[in-house]
Amino acid sequence: MSHIEEIPCIEVLSSVVFIIEGVVEESQNPQAIASHLNTCLACQAEVIMNKRCICCYKMRYVAHVMKELLKTYTAAFMKSYCAK
Ligand SMILES: [Zn+2]
Repeated sequence: MSHIEEIPCIEVLSSVVFIIEGVVEESQNPQAIASHLNTCLACQAEVIMNKRCICCYKMRYVAHVMKELLKTYTAAFMKSYCAK
């Protein structure tokens, strides 16, 4: 008998963000999640899919922030340059 508690898919899926970020130990039940993922293909697929999405999301976010920063710096530079 395993001492690791069995948990339902929904509990694993609610911790998907921890799994993706590599901080599964911060979730409620890391051992149970890990053992569930070893046996449940549906949850494995869900993690893989979300990994892709989060990656795209982060890239888009970084691009957006860079653009905003550039805009701000350019505006500040133009302002100080023209004031002289
Ligand atoms: Zn599952």
